[in-house]
Amino acid sequence: MLRAIVEGLLDFVWPPRTQCLLCREPRPGAPLACPACMEEIGFDPTASRCANCTRPIESDRGLCADCEEGPVYGVVFALGAHQGALREAVHHLKFGDRPELAQLLGNRLADRVTVPHDGIVPVPLHPSRLRERGYNQAGLIARAISAGRGIPVWESHLRRVRRTGHQAKLQRDSRLHNLDGAFAVEAAVTPPWSDKRVLLVDDVLTTGATAAAVAEVLYKSGARSVDLAVLAVSTTPVRGKLKTSH
Ligand SMILES: [Zn+2]
Ligand SMILES: [Zn+2]
Repeated sequence: MLRAIVEGLLDFVWPPRTQCLLCREPRPGAPLACPACMEEIGFDPTASRCANCTRPIESDRGLCADCEEGPVYGVVFALGAHQGALREAVHHLKFGDRPELAQLLGNRLADRVTVPHDGIVPVPLHPSRLRERGYNQAGLIARAISAGRGIPVWESHLRRVRRTGHQAKLQRDSRLHNLDGAFAVEAAVTPPWSDKRVLLVDDVLTTGATAAAVAEVLYKSGARSVDLAVLAVSTTPVRGKLKTSH
C-alpha cells in the first residue's frame, strides 16, 4: 500500500517514464513497456491449446469441451496467455488507469486477426462502471484494431443493462446465469451489424460466459457471424472432457 502510494507520487513528479511499466526495470526513454516484456507476450509453443479458442487444454491437441459443443462465438484471436507481462499489462489497463496500453496491445492484436470482418463490437461496460473507470478498455482495444484493420467500431447500439457483479468470484454455471439479460440492443433502429460479420472484442477470455452472452444478443439482432478477439486467454485448462486426436 505504502509502496503504491510512493510509486504513485514518483509517477506524478517524474512524468518522463524511466521504468518499464510491466517489469519495472529501468529503461530510459522507453515507451511504456520494454522490448523484453513485449517479447514475452505470447503463448508457450509447447503447451496444448484448443485449436479454436486458444485456451489451454490438459492433454493432446484438439478442441476444448466448449468448442467441441460449438460456442456461441466462432474463432478466437488472442495475443497470449493471461500471465507474466501480458497479465501485468491487462491489469494496468483495467485497474491502473493506463488506457494507452490498449493502443500498444490492440495494434498487435489487429495483426493476429486473420479472417475478414465488417465491423467491431466491444463488450460494453455498465454505465456505472464506466463512470468509475473513466473508459471502457474493450472499446479502446476495439479502436486500435479498427485502425489496424480499416473497419468501423460499432459501439453505440449495444448496452450493458445490468451490472453483473464480479464474475471472477463466481463458478462457471452461476456466471452463465448471472449474465442472463445483462446485454441489450437499442430496439428502435436496425443495428449496424445486421447481416454483417462481427469481430467482438474483450480484454480477457476466461470461461467465455460474457463473450457468449454478447454474441447471443448480436446473433439475435441479425449478425451473420461473430468471432472474438481478446488480449489474453485464461491460463486455467478448460474443464470438461477433452477431444483428443486418437
Ligand atoms: Zn519490461
Ligand atoms: Zn476451445
